[in-house]
Amino acid sequence: MSGVRLIPLQCPRCDTPVLAKLDEVAWVCEQCGQGMKISDERGTDAMDVFFSAALPQNKPGFPYWVARGAVRPLVRSTYHRDSSEEMNAFWATPRLFYVPAYALEIEKVVAAGVSLLHKPVRMEPGARTAILPVVLPPEDVFRVAEFVVMSVEADRRDALKEFKFDLKLDPVQLWILP
Ligand SMILES: [Zn+2]
Repeated sequence: MSGVRLIPLQCPRCDTPVLAKLDEVAWVCEQCGQGMKISDERGTDAMDVFFSAALPQNKPGFPYWVARGAVRPLVRSTYHRDSSEEMNAFWATPRLFYVPAYALEIEKVVAAGVSLLHKPVRMEPGARTAILPVVLPPEDVFRVAEFVVMSVEADRRDALKEFKFDLKLDPVQLWILP
C-alpha cells in the first residue's frame, strides 16, 4: 500500500477528491479554487493560497512559504573587520522571508531564500494558475529562515567567527510566484 493515503482526501469546501501524492503538503482545488493544507493526521484544512499578479497563465507557478520575520542580533564576532553597523542597519526593520516549497535541494532553497530576502518581489495578488507540487512542510520554514539569516551574515565582507540571533517569524502564507 505504499504511495497510497489511508485517509481519502477531499476539498473542505466542495468535496472534490484531492489527488495529491504522498509528499504533497498543500493543494489548490481544481474545481473551486480552495487552498488547503494536507497532513497525515488531519487530512485537509482550508488555507488561503495567494497567486501573484505577475504569473503567466501558460505555465505552472512556483509555491513559496512567505513570512515576515524580525531578527535581533545577539552576538557577532569576527576574525577581522567589523560589519556590525551594516548588520544592524539591515535588520533594523522586519524582512520578508521566502522559502521555496517546491522540490529543490536544500542548498538551493537557502540560496533562493537569501536572494529573495535581498530583492523582495511585489506581493500583489492575481488570478489562479496551475502550480508545482508543494512538498516542503510549513513546519520547516523556521529552520530554513535561520539558515538564510546565517548565510546573509556569513556573506558580509569580514571573517565571521560567531553569530547568535533571535528570530521571530509571523505566520507563514503560501504564495505562488513566477
Ligand atoms: Zn473545492
